Amino acid sequence: MVKDDCIFCKIAGGKIPAATLYEDEDFRVILDLGPASRGHALILPKEHYQDLCELDEAVGAKVLALAAKIGRAMKSGLGCAGFNLVQNNGEAAGQTVKHFHMHIIPRYEGGPEMVVWKPGSSDAGELEKIVEEITAQL
Ligand code: 5GP
Ligand code: ZN
Repeated sequence: MVKDDCIFCKIAGGKIPAATLYEDEDFRVILDLGPASRGHALILPKEHYQDLCELDEAVGAKVLALAAKIGRAMKSGLGCAGFNLVQNNGEAAGQTVKHFHMHIIPRYEGGPEMVVWKPGSSDAGELEKIVEEITAQL
């Protein structure tokens, strides 16, 4: 299903132009308009899924292989030293466009700095409690 008022549905469906790296029946891969680094790309499914929790399993199963394909091409084509996959779910996690997408962010020697956090602390009791809280929902 495609959502009429969704910008990524329009881009994935070719109704709004975008710099396209790859396209097949399930996906369009485009360059991000506000890149974190040179070559920052987004994998967009052509069908509308709000986030990872809604994503069709068969479509989702293809995302990592596609990210690897694009990442390999970035390394040889752009000369990046590596790449990060980033996938935000929900506003609290930084999701601004409510259509599932996977960021592929090339990393070059010397930058950009990203995906950093200050490690917190944990103890055995707290870890056990978290395991219970999550596994009760699986
Ligand atoms: P999010 O924060 O939702 O994970 O990421 C949304 C990303 O989409 C951002 O990196 C933003 O720069 C990018 N973006 C938003 N609107 C457009 C657009 O119209 N075209 C392209 N190519 N990228 C967009
Ligand atoms: Zn959409």
